[in-house]
Amino acid sequence: MIVDTHAHVFPPEVRDRRDDYLRLAAAFRELYSSPNARIATADELLASMDAAGVDRAVACGFAWGDAGLCRQHNDYLLEAAARSGGRVIAFCTVQPSDEGARDELKRCAAAGARGLGELRPQYQGYGLIDSGEADLLAWAADAYDLALLFHASEPVGHPYPGKAGLPLEQLYRFIADFPGATVIAAHWGGGLPFFALMPEVREALARTYFDTAATGLLYRLEVYARAVELVGAERILFGSDFPLVSQERALQELREAPIDDEARRLIAGENARRLLRLPDG
Ligand SMILES: [Zn+2]
Repeated sequence: MIVDTHAHVFPPEVRDRRDDYLRLAAAFRELYSSPNARIATADELLASMDAAGVDRAVACGFAWGDAGLCRQHNDYLLEAAARSGGRVIAFCTVQPSDEGARDELKRCAAAGARGLGELRPQYQGYGLIDSGEADLLAWAADAYDLALLFHASEPVGHPYPGKAGLPLEQLYRFIADFPGATVIAAHWGGGLPFFALMPEVREALARTYFDTAATGLLYRLEVYARAVELVGAERILFGSDFPLVSQERALQELREAPIDDEARRLIAGENARRLLRLPDG
C-alpha cells in the first residue's frame, strides 16, 4: 500500500480567485505569488493518485492567519475526504489563537480529520515555546487522536519560499514538552534526525515521525539511507509535497533510494497505515 502523507489541496474557489487571496493573506502570498507555484484541488489530487499508483493521501490545509479561512478550507478537505471512499485523509488547520479554535478542532475531529497540518506557527503569529497555542495543539492531539504535521526546514542551505516558518529549536521544544503528542516533522524534520544520536533527544523523539516531502528539491537521495540509520525506517513516512513535487517523481525517488526493500515497504505506506489506523489494502 502506498500512502502519501503530505499533499496540499485547496478549494477551487482559492484557485479561481488566486489574486484576491494573494492580497488577503501574507502567508499565502509568500508561497503562492509565483505563477509556477501550482494550486491543486482534491479532484486533481485524486487524478494524480490514479496516475502514480498512490492508494491514499493526506490532504493538508493551509496556515491561514484568519480563522474563517481555515474553517472554509477545512470544510472542503472534510467533504473531499468523505466522498473519496477513504482515499483522501483530511488534515485540517485551525488558527490556535482564535477563541473558536477549540470548537473548530472538535468539529474537524468529529467530521473525520485524522491530523492537523501543515502547521506553520510563525505564519499564524504564535510560537511553540510556553504558549497557549502549543498547549491547545497538544491537547487536541491527545483528545482527538490527531497527528500534528509541522512544517520543518533546514537552518542552513539555500533559501526558498516558505523556508522560514518554524525554527528547529521551537519544533524540538514542542516535541520535548509534549511527549504524548504524535508529531510528523515534515521534510526530514529539517535535519532533526541527526540529533537523535544524542540519547535524550532520541528519547524525546519516541512519537515523532519524519516525512520525505520535497526530498528531490532539498537532498541527495542518500538522505533515505542516512535517516534510516539515524531514526529507523519505521519512523519515516513517504510524502510528496504534491503539487509542488509530483507524486510520480516522489515515488520514483523512493524506488531509487539506497535502502532495502523492507525499509522501502515501511516508508511507502506501512508506517502510515499503522499510524493513521487505515484499513488494509
Ligand atoms: Zn512544508
